Amino acid sequence: WSSDTVAVVTGANRGIGFEIARQLAGHGLTVILTSRDTSVGLEAAKVLQEGGFNVDVHQLDVLEPSSIEEFCEWIREKYGGIDILVNNAGVNYNIGSDNSVEFAKDVIATNYNGTKSMIKAMIPLMRPSSAGARIVSVSSRLGKLNGRRNRTYSPLAYLIAMLLAHGLTKSVGDYSLNKGVKGRLENPTLRQQLGDLDTLSEELIDRTIETFLKEVEEDTWKSGGWPQTLTDYSMSKLAVNAHTRLMAKILSDRPEGEKIYINCFCPGWVKTAMTGWAGNVSAENGADTGVWLSLLPDQAITGKFFAERREISF
Ligand code: NDP
Repeated sequence: WSSDTVAVVTGANRGIGFEIARQLAGHGLTVILTSRDTSVGLEAAKVLQEGGFNVDVHQLDVLEPSSIEEFCEWIREKYGGIDILVNNAGVNYNIGSDNSVEFAKDVIATNYNGTKSMIKAMIPLMRPSSAGARIVSVSSRLGKLNGRRNRTYSPLAYLIAMLLAHGLTKSVGDYSLNKGVKGRLENPTLRQQLGDLDTLSEELIDRTIETFLKEVEEDTWKSGGWPQTLTDYSMSKLAVNAHTRLMAKILSDRPEGEKIYINCFCPGWVKTAMTGWAGNVSAENGADTGVWLSLLPDQAITGKFFAERREISF
């Protein structure tokens, strides 16, 4: 890796994305810090540039096709292509104790469709190299297909679990409890189909998401067998995970020298705006696995899910 290596990070103006950009630049790469708000992006990039890092900046809203198109054009003209794409941009509106799906459409559109759009737009710009180009998506354990069964806790058991897990000084909000309580897709056929690479397809992932959003619209989602914890967010990350595995399979056909490796990871429960700064992992540590995956010397790793630099199951 050198300053000739170009890495793009989405939603890099703050939080985990900013840290990924900072750490990749710290490895000597050229980092394109993207932000949906131009002035905020310029401010964030300035901090890194003043630290002596090789950081460029461009506007990018992953929800806006014209913004993506303009960004691609700029990359093509200025750099000719890229080597690493980190899909970090994401939203979550469930910070408090409710499990609201009020913004489900936006959450799915940003976290899943935005990630998918960026992957599609960037693949033609990924430069051939012996190390292989890399795509890394920031996902979440909440999107695990086979996460723990949804459980109903008595208030006392809830309190004891929380105290054991976090200690007396930590937040008592539901979000902190979510850390140990993973959602789970209860429909066994769907779980099997999404979990099997032979039956997995973009159409299946999209259809699953559409069914979920339709049930949200009709207010029947509670009995739909969807994860009951941060439901819309969990579904968006479940889709990202499934799409990662699918893309790895599709991309595996590329000839030697033009390989693209794609993986996703969970950063942990990170102290950022998204969690109301209530996490137990710093943004710096949350970014670590993403940076490690982006620069991994072992080229053959693709279609996997990681946390704390270790592979975990989907
Ligand atoms: P932040 O809210 O701090 O940062 C989110 C970033 O995404 C911001 O830069 C935001 O931009 C950007 N963003 C949102 N929507 C868009 C869009 N349409 N186009 C471009 N950028 C957009 O959250 P985190 O740093 O915590 O989250 C980063 C990633 O990590 C997300 O994908 C999140 O789901 C994931 N994650 C976070 C966890 C945590 O505990 N924090 C746990 C597991 C996963 P703007 O500033 O303009 O809003």
